[in-house]
Amino acid sequence: MKPLLNISSIHTWTGKKNKPIIISGPCSAENETQVMSTAKAIAAIDSSVIFRAGIWKPRTRPNSFEGVGTIGLKWLQKVKQETGMKVTTEVANAKHVEECLQSGVDIVWIGARTTVSPFAVQEIADALKGVDIPVMIKNPVNPDLQLWIGAIERIYQAGVTKLAAIHRGFHSYGNSPFRNEPNWEIAVGLRLAYPSLPIICDPSHICGNTELIPYISQKALDMEMDGLMIETHIMPGIAKSDAKQQLTPVQLKELLSKLVVREMISQNKEFIDQLTQLRTHINNADDEILQVLMKRMQIVREIGQYKKDNNVTILQATRWEEILNTRISNGQMMGLSEELIRKLYHLIHDESIRIQTEIMNK
Ligand code: PEP
Ligand code: MN
Repeated sequence: MKPLLNISSIHTWTGKKNKPIIISGPCSAENETQVMSTAKAIAAIDSSVIFRAGIWKPRTRPNSFEGVGTIGLKWLQKVKQETGMKVTTEVANAKHVEECLQSGVDIVWIGARTTVSPFAVQEIADALKGVDIPVMIKNPVNPDLQLWIGAIERIYQAGVTKLAAIHRGFHSYGNSPFRNEPNWEIAVGLRLAYPSLPIICDPSHICGNTELIPYISQKALDMEMDGLMIETHIMPGIAKSDAKQQLTPVQLKELLSKLVVREMISQNKEFIDQLTQLRTHINNADDEILQVLMKRMQIVREIGQYKKDNNVTILQATRWEEILNTRISNGQMMGLSEELIRKLYHLIHDESIRIQTEIMNK
């Protein structure tokens, strides 16, 4: 596999010198007036924003609004001419790519429902061969880092070097405050696999509502992401798709004015010295955690052997319940969150059972 060594800096294709890169516009292009009025309102806030609008919309159920199709490309051309903003839209097959190239779309993106399909991604990659258009690849709907990486590699192998990933969250079944779980560790995994690959966060599709967008946007910047893709609609209330999560231009302006862009590394010597010292304390604390865990697992082994010798079952539900409850209340008294203790003790308990099962079956 060819590693992604030649990725162009995001600044070479966005024309913007500083972070964060902002991409904004409606979920879907609906009609010329809606596209133009949204674009003009965004350009009035900051004309270095890249304008987004979906033209071909992958919808979960048939008979819902599936986008305006080719005619929307004309409106994107008009946005470019009248506002000077760069424009981007989603492509899901070779025909979409060809039409975008013909009508001067500046950047294309591959949507979450397309990234899951290697055949579809390969078809897009083949259509992009020999073309120097920037491509952004959204994470697949399911939490699978390798599938995301695979899609990025397919596009890279077609010769595209102007690449970025878009983190838009992952489907999860059950209760969550988010429409798509952020699973930040997957985005961090991508950063570790390909440090030079820019990652843009899409808080709109993570949140699914407007309330949580400022929080997720700031968090993304604090996680060293390179930019944000945020859905904005001139009248979100009547949007034909994703109505609940689109900001008004006024809300976008407020959000952008409140974002804090922190420096990745401060050059201040006093700061660096202080940070180094604090990190030494963290390293020491981590060593202590590992030693205590080792000690605990040794005792677990001894108990496992004792249970085996006396023919007693591994799982003792009342004991486990008592452990969890006391640890949670002790932890809370020490200022630790219930969630942390609960997750931690489930991991510790699973590992203890695994170790004792091994001993029992020896
Ligand atoms: C979109 O950007 O409007 C879209 C359809 O997003 P996703 O592919 O992330 O669901
Ligand atoms: Mn959308």
